Amino acid sequence: MADEDCYSRKISSEESKKGYIFVLKGRLSFFPPKGKTFTLSELQNEKRVKMESYHCTCRGPALPHKHYFIQWDGVQRGEKITITKDRKIAGRYFLVSKK
Ligand SMILES: [Zn+2]
Repeated sequence: MADEDCYSRKISSEESKKGYIFVLKGRLSFFPPKGKTFTLSELQNEKRVKMESYHCTCRGPALPHKHYFIQWDGVQRGEKITITKDRKIAGRYFLVSKK
């Protein structure tokens, strides 16, 4: 699958602990704009979610930046998730995970 058709990542321990999925800044355009709700479905589990962010100084106080994430409970460290778009229904996304 081409990179622009999906968003994949391996869940880190931080994401697993906090119950969210980080979205890299360069891939934000794959998702609806920040704050706009959209549907994310994994098997029988379907939820309204939105892109959120927090300010961070993990690269030092001189380089403040934001981290973007989608709240999604139950992700496990090391799990590989792939999010794809529904081609027929705008604002609907699917999540597939490989544990
Ligand atoms: Zn940071």
